[in-house]
Amino acid sequence: MVSTIDAQISNANISKKELISYFREKCKTCGHHRIMHNEFGKCEGVMNKPCMSGCDSFESE
Ligand SMILES: [Zn+2]
Ligand SMILES: [Zn+2]
Repeated sequence: MVSTIDAQISNANISKKELISYFREKCKTCGHHRIMHNEFGKCEGVMNKPCMSGCDSFESE
C-alpha cells in the first residue's frame, strides 16, 4: 500500500533522490536548508529554535 505522497512522487517526473537534494539546498540568507522554509519561503527555524535571521525568502546558495 502506497501513501498518497509516495504515489504523487512516483507520478511526478522527479526521483526521491532529486527531491531530497532539492530540500537539502542551503539558504544564502540564513544558512538553513530549504526544508526549514515554509511554502512562502519564510524560514521557520530548526526544531523548536526559531530562525533569528528574519529570513523571509529562500535564496539558494
Ligand atoms: Zn533560517
Ligand atoms: Zn533562509
